[in-house]
Amino acid sequence: MIDAQHHLQLLNTELLQARETLLLRLSESNNLIHHALVATLHEHNPEQWLELVQKQLGTEYQDIILRLEQLEAAICQIDIGQYGYCCDCEEEIDPQRLIVDPTIQRCSNCEPNL
Ligand SMILES: [Zn+2]
Repeated sequence: MIDAQHHLQLLNTELLQARETLLLRLSESNNLIHHALVATLHEHNPEQWLELVQKQLGTEYQDIILRLEQLEAAICQIDIGQYGYCCDCEEEIDPQRLIVDPTIQRCSNCEPNL
């Protein structure tokens, strides 16, 4: 049985860190559009950030955007009680996999190369 509350804490902690990292990278950018984006993000609820940055940022931000998406998706699954189930075959995901990465979406049969 998966301790969803424990994972929720981990996910929320990492989500806050990932948002900080995004802000930091944007403010350190040489691109003035990114500085304007930092100001825009500060005016919005962090839940809207992905939507705001997705269209404006290039491939150099793909890793952090992907991570934010994964974290938010996993938190959403905890909210609706679907956390820890494979999104392909709907079997329970091995808890060991979720310890390695709490945002894992698939079981070891559906995604063996992890
Ligand atoms: Zn599966």
